[in-house]
Amino acid sequence: MAERIFIGVAWPYANGPLHIGHIAGCYLPADIFARYHRARGNDVLMVSGSDQHGTPITVRAEQEGTTPDKVVAKYHAEFVESWRKLGIGFDLYTSTGTQNHTQTVHEMFRSLLEQGYIYKGSQSLPYCPKDARFLPDRYVEGTCPHCRYDGARGDQCDKCGRTLNPIDLVGARCKFCGTTPEIRDSEHYLLKLSAFQDRLLAWVKQQTHWRSNVLNFSTNFIAGGLNDRAITRDIEWGVPVPVPGFEHKRIYVWFEAVCGYLSASKEWSQKKGQPDKWKDYWQNKDCRAYYFIGKDNIPFHTVIWPAMLMGYGGLNLPYDVPANEFLTLETQKISTSRNWAVWLPDYLARYPADPLRYYLSASMPESSDMDFSWREYLRRNNDELVATYGNLAHRILTFTYRNFNGAVPDPGELDASARAILAKADDAFQTVERLLRDCHFKAAIGAVMGLAQDANRYVDETAPWRAIKQDRQAAARALWTSISVISCLKTLMYPFLPFSSQTLHELLGNQGAVESTGWAFHKPAAGQKLAVPTPLFTKLEDSMIEEEVQRLRQVSTAGQK
Ligand SMILES: [Zn+2]
Ligand SMILES: [Zn+2]
Repeated sequence: MAERIFIGVAWPYANGPLHIGHIAGCYLPADIFARYHRARGNDVLMVSGSDQHGTPITVRAEQEGTTPDKVVAKYHAEFVESWRKLGIGFDLYTSTGTQNHTQTVHEMFRSLLEQGYIYKGSQSLPYCPKDARFLPDRYVEGTCPHCRYDGARGDQCDKCGRTLNPIDLVGARCKFCGTTPEIRDSEHYLLKLSAFQDRLLAWVKQQTHWRSNVLNFSTNFIAGGLNDRAITRDIEWGVPVPVPGFEHKRIYVWFEAVCGYLSASKEWSQKKGQPDKWKDYWQNKDCRAYYFIGKDNIPFHTVIWPAMLMGYGGLNLPYDVPANEFLTLETQKISTSRNWAVWLPDYLARYPADPLRYYLSASMPESSDMDFSWREYLRRNNDELVATYGNLAHRILTFTYRNFNGAVPDPGELDASARAILAKADDAFQTVERLLRDCHFKAAIGAVMGLAQDANRYVDETAPWRAIKQDRQAAARALWTSISVISCLKTLMYPFLPFSSQTLHELLGNQGAVESTGWAFHKPAAGQKLAVPTPLFTKLEDSMIEEEVQRLRQVSTAGQK
């Protein structure tokens, strides 16, 4: 029976381009997971969208001397284009700027307010006397009271990942003028997180299938005591507060952005012409909800969003939150402000998607931080994608095409070595499937590449190019068996490398989308026509390493000006 899977992916702020760290952190693992489940025949809904509110957007607009909506329009369009080129297949990629989103947020707000989970209170907040304004979250910076990191923002410390209140910052300063803010009172609504403390702790303790870093972080976060959090801000860009007297305040972005998973599901249903379809994923207990995020986002998805859902009632809580650690670049922390990053639009303008998808899958920061370097990019491309996988397919298909009239030969009776490699391919299906279901993507692609190595050994041992001179039937058997394993690899690689899998699918003489053939080991029929062989991947020259590192340094220097 088809399983039902909801996949929510972190909502990127539409305030700057995406870089490879974002991709390794959540977009690629989510897409791999979705592609596997869709190929398996499961019922998948994967949604996300651009987060267009909050101070990251207004800070950017003020820095660039433009308006928030122009900043949002530019980056949202760029994100959509990046998803297309990188093959990140959302069922819906929307934004928090829709009427539907505002309605969904208001429903959540009103429901929690009526049930007493939201209440009005006075907040002591930093106020810049020079700029004559309150300084919500990112407008104030200072030293983290927990880890002493000096670049902590009013809402969160990027170093230790803790959420903060702006008045907790040591040595707080106004983001724009550097003035030490004074503290003034402002009226706001707060979410009564403290009311969920016991329920959340009991719930989190049951989630023994979560990654240990996610489970430990969340347990400690809750056990340390939950404080009620303001959910409105002194800012004029964002979702309005549906209460009179709050016209100059907005709903705090963390509260409304997480509602985006629900609003996007509703928008997808409306667009599909089945306005109640979202309920299959949110109210049906059989649906499992996965949230793919970076580790800096853990508390919002394992504590705050579940608390909101518990308060609202009747909607599914997260089943798993497989948060990834961070990616570093040439051993340094990726930094937007220092421009130390491989930007996605720049990469995609110059290179194909699959080599990046391969590298980031094989080095996915699942349980510890991982490093991206151009040297390793080249090595993985040349030694693994080209030499191990691409050449295996290319030389077998080319040789078969030339010697057997462009068609799959008849293997005759299989011998022990053919049966052994086919058994390994069967095993790989089981192994890779188990790893994918458990969100162990790095190990999963390692297992796929392991099968490609086994296939190369089989080809070397049977050497069809020599065999064909004495025993044409032995050559036919080796080629058919190799093509079968290549067909298996095409399916196993599909979640990771959708573009080259589609090409290989067609080279093997199939039509239509590779995904539509399902998650199954298809052995080719004797006589099946092959397409004219072409290489799957391109070898890179060593000189590109130095060029790319230089480019990175130049761009980084330019960014500091
Ligand atoms: Zn900190
Ligand atoms: Zn100021």
